[in-house]
Amino acid sequence: MSIFPYPIKLKDKEQLTPDAFNFTFTKPVDFDFQAGQYTEMSFSPTLTRCYSLASAPQDPDLHFLIKLIPQGAASEFLRHLTIGETVLISEAKGNWITSTSSQNLTFVVTGTGIAPARSIIRDQLLFQASTAPINLLAGFRQETDIIARAEWEELQQQFPNLRCLFSLSQPNEQWFGPTGYITDHLDNIGTDSCFFLCGLPAMATTAIQKIMAQGVSPLKIRTEVY
Ligand SMILES: Cc1cc2nc3c(=O)[nH]c(=O)nc-3n(C[C@H](O)[C@H](O)[C@H](O)COP(=O)(O)OP(=O)(O)OC[C@H]3O[C@@H](n4cnc5c(N)ncnc54)[C@H](O)[C@@H]3O)c2cc1C
Repeated sequence: MSIFPYPIKLKDKEQLTPDAFNFTFTKPVDFDFQAGQYTEMSFSPTLTRCYSLASAPQDPDLHFLIKLIPQGAASEFLRHLTIGETVLISEAKGNWITSTSSQNLTFVVTGTGIAPARSIIRDQLLFQASTAPINLLAGFRQETDIIARAEWEELQQQFPNLRCLFSLSQPNEQWFGPTGYITDHLDNIGTDSCFFLCGLPAMATTAIQKIMAQGVSPLKIRTEVY
C-alpha cells in the first residue's frame, strides 16, 4: 500500500494573516486521526512536508493552518493550488495528543504551532464537553499575525473554561495586550496541568526549562517543533 493512500481535494483557501492560510480539504471517509496529530502531504514524488491537522476529528472537513514561506518548495505549491485540485496525505502520526477530557491543559505555541492546539481545543470543548481549565498561550510578532483571533474570542465567550493569552514580540503602539516572548508569561503558570508546546525550537527549549523549574514532571510535557 502507498504511504500516501488518501487523496484530499482543496475546498477552500482563506487568508488569515499576511502569510498564514486556512486550507480546507475534503476528509476521506476512511481517514482517522486523533486531535493534535499531523500528516505528511505529498505534492510530487520528491516533495513531501508534514502539516498538523487543525480541525477536530469530528469536524466534517480537514483544516490546515499553513504559513506560506517565500520560495519555500511546498509553500509555492500550496500558494498555487486551486479549488478542486488534489494532494495526497499519509496516515495521521504523532503523540501530541491527550487521552482524557478531564485534565487541565495548557498550550504554549508560536505561529502556526497554534494549528494542533486548535484541533485539541475544538475536540475538548465542542465534542468532549470538557469543563476542565484550558489555557492557550500563543506568541506572535505583530497583531496582524494572530491566527484566527475572532474564532478564539468567540470560543472564549462560549466556554468560560478557555483562557487565551496572545503576546506580541514586536507590537505597535495600538496594542495594549501582553508583550514579549510567550515564554515571558510562564512564571507561576500552575503545575496542575498537562503542557503542550508547539512552534519554534528556541521557544520549546525555554518553555521546558521554565515549566520543569516549577516542578512539572517531563511526563506531563509534550513537544513538537517546526
Ligand atoms: C510535525 C510537523 C508539523 C508541521 N505542521 C505545520 C503546520 O501546521 N503549519 C505550517 O505552516 N508548517 C508546519 N510544519 C512545517 C512544514 O512541514 C514545512 O517545513 C514548512 O511549510 C516549510 O516548507 P516549504 O517547503 O514551504 O519550505 P522549504 O523549501 O522547506 O524551506 C524554505 C526556506 O524557509 C525556511 N523556513 C522553513 N520554515 C520556516 C518558517 N516557519 N518561517 C520562516 N522560514 C522558514 C527554511 O529554513 C528554508 O531556508 C510542520 C512540520 C512538522 C515537522
